[in-house]
Amino acid sequence: MVEARSAVAQAREWHGIQKAQERLPIAEARKQLIDLVKAHQTLVLVGETGSGKSTQLPQFLHRAGLAEGKSIAVTQPRRVAAIAVARRVAQEMGVQLGAEVGYAVRFDDRSSAATRIKYLTDGMLVREALIDPTLSRYKIVVLDEAHERTLPTEILFGLMKQIQAQRKGGMKLIIMSATLDAAKFAHFFDGAKVIYLQGRQFSVDTMYVPEPVDSYLDAVLRTVLQIHVDEPEGDILAFLTGQEEIETLQRLIPERLPQLEGAESLGKLLVVPIYAALQPEQQAKVFEPTPAGMRKVILATNIAETSITVPGVRYVVDAGFVKARSYNARLQSDSLQVVPISKAQARQRSGRAGREAAGKAFRLYTEAAFLGLQAASAPEIQRVSLASLVLQLKQLGVADMTAFPFMDAPPKAALLRALELLLALGALDADGALSKPLGAQLVRLPLEPAFGKLLLSGGAMSCSEEALSVVSMTSTDPVFLNTRNKQEAATEMRKQFLSPLGDHITLLNVLTAYMKVPSGFPKNERGRWCGERLLNARSMRKALEILEKAVIESKNDLLLGVQVPLKSCENDMDPLQRAILSGLFMHAAILLPDNTYKVIASGQIVSIHPSSVLSGRKPRCIVFDEILRTTRNYARNVTVMEPSWLPEVVPAFFRKMESSGSL
Ligand code: ADP
Repeated sequence: MVEARSAVAQAREWHGIQKAQERLPIAEARKQLIDLVKAHQTLVLVGETGSGKSTQLPQFLHRAGLAEGKSIAVTQPRRVAAIAVARRVAQEMGVQLGAEVGYAVRFDDRSSAATRIKYLTDGMLVREALIDPTLSRYKIVVLDEAHERTLPTEILFGLMKQIQAQRKGGMKLIIMSATLDAAKFAHFFDGAKVIYLQGRQFSVDTMYVPEPVDSYLDAVLRTVLQIHVDEPEGDILAFLTGQEEIETLQRLIPERLPQLEGAESLGKLLVVPIYAALQPEQQAKVFEPTPAGMRKVILATNIAETSITVPGVRYVVDAGFVKARSYNARLQSDSLQVVPISKAQARQRSGRAGREAAGKAFRLYTEAAFLGLQAASAPEIQRVSLASLVLQLKQLGVADMTAFPFMDAPPKAALLRALELLLALGALDADGALSKPLGAQLVRLPLEPAFGKLLLSGGAMSCSEEALSVVSMTSTDPVFLNTRNKQEAATEMRKQFLSPLGDHITLLNVLTAYMKVPSGFPKNERGRWCGERLLNARSMRKALEILEKAVIESKNDLLLGVQVPLKSCENDMDPLQRAILSGLFMHAAILLPDNTYKVIASGQIVSIHPSSVLSGRKPRCIVFDEILRTTRNYARNVTVMEPSWLPEVVPAFFRKMESSGSL
């Protein structure tokens, strides 16, 4: 009986999905799109977010047999989107995820030889090209969200141009976006065919604040509650900059709701978050229909701008900011900063309110501020470190970076800095070719070259187990929860893991302790263990996954695909500190009399971040992961080292610094 009912329920759900597919704007253009793909080598497809590009087009092409027995690759700049879209398409096609439809993102591959439609992050497709330079298993490559102009997508633009020339007529390319300069793309791809997909967009009433707001977080909170009180039914989508802000509001909204006047007569609010680091099961919640009598509030990062379409939204609240990576070539440092969005982003965000009916957008900045925004954000290639880009292009056989067909040339200074770093790391020979074995190994690691070097040095210094733990812990979101009201308790908890040698070794201690907690029984023991210690359970799980994956591969003598035997330095941390220095030496710094630090390579002045276990301790010499720029420059994830190690561990670099008088 139960089985029979569930079969009926499944059939209903299936029917519902089919109906939804047929209603999408792209459904009407199916035949035309298939014909265009047949007729042209390269297409540029521009269509409103939610019109069905990512989920439907690959299915059309697959069903029409255009992949000719090969596969279709669809890239997404974000892993969340790659996973969510693959799940949806598998569900629509009624197949097991990982079989006919699959995905591949860093450290997580759900695809097989049977996979015909494969969603992957753009970075993963670049990795595939490193091994198979003509991407021979694909007949069609779709580069989605091309307007984002991420570094890997940028490599793929040039690469696809070259591959199309090599595989004469054998490779179709489709560039997709909700918002891009189609003419520029058509020109770059030698007169590619441009198609505009007619979307359904209802009018959106856009409102600004009369005066700049003091705190956008507070303004978002107040606006969401105000909409709930004043406006008719319809879900709310609020744009924030990151997980921490989202979690704060997730807590505050239900707290404040009962305090509103007439709260008893108001409907309930269902608050759901969506951001990159969220677990896939939780991400799926944003797509569930809002229960009757309730209003959904989606708290999102810029991921909901174009990557993910949430149905039911009538109101958009836009804080006007985004977290973006930026690179300062002079200072040779990447940093994650909260910056104002562009006009194009503001329009995309507002547009989310008008997908199903007329809507309203509340911009929490003044109209004058909007008019002062940049038209569009600069491509990543002009604002991030290019070390891994250069490394990958070298592997792809590009000897001279200036000869590669970039859509927009990267800044010369940034290219030079990247070459310098790679030379100092030993990844390039004096003549600029990939070194063997180091350079070739670094390319294969799914890590920034500096962290790859840290790991490989761990192998050379007989502490690869510890180095791998450090890399795993720094590859996930922060594990120490930063809850404001529990700051003291958190500091107290951290003491049990604390190493006087710094944050990296403290993180190693956390992971080592975590691994001793039984994983199976009692159920979720590890989650409870994290909760009690105010640690982020999800980050810990992720770190362990990365570690285990690498260890399993190392059983075949491969560590993440590179020849490194697993070895432990037991309790002697000296080799690990040196391994850390060998990778992160660009961020080695010396104490100054005023207790700040001078970064040796760049001369930049930094302070140890207050969250560091070394904050207030003043070691003479430190090395750290990255610089966080807020009110001042902070060094994050810091380890103590000896000044005398510099010339020993990275002789080439520091001898050069010495001879030029910089030391
Ligand atoms: P586009 O690529 O044009 O932005 P998509 O193909 O991503 O459009 O989405 C088309 C529709 O499918 C949207 O209305 C969206 O709500 C729905 N959709 C996409 N992904 C999912 C999902 N994982 N679960 C439920 N619905 C989804």
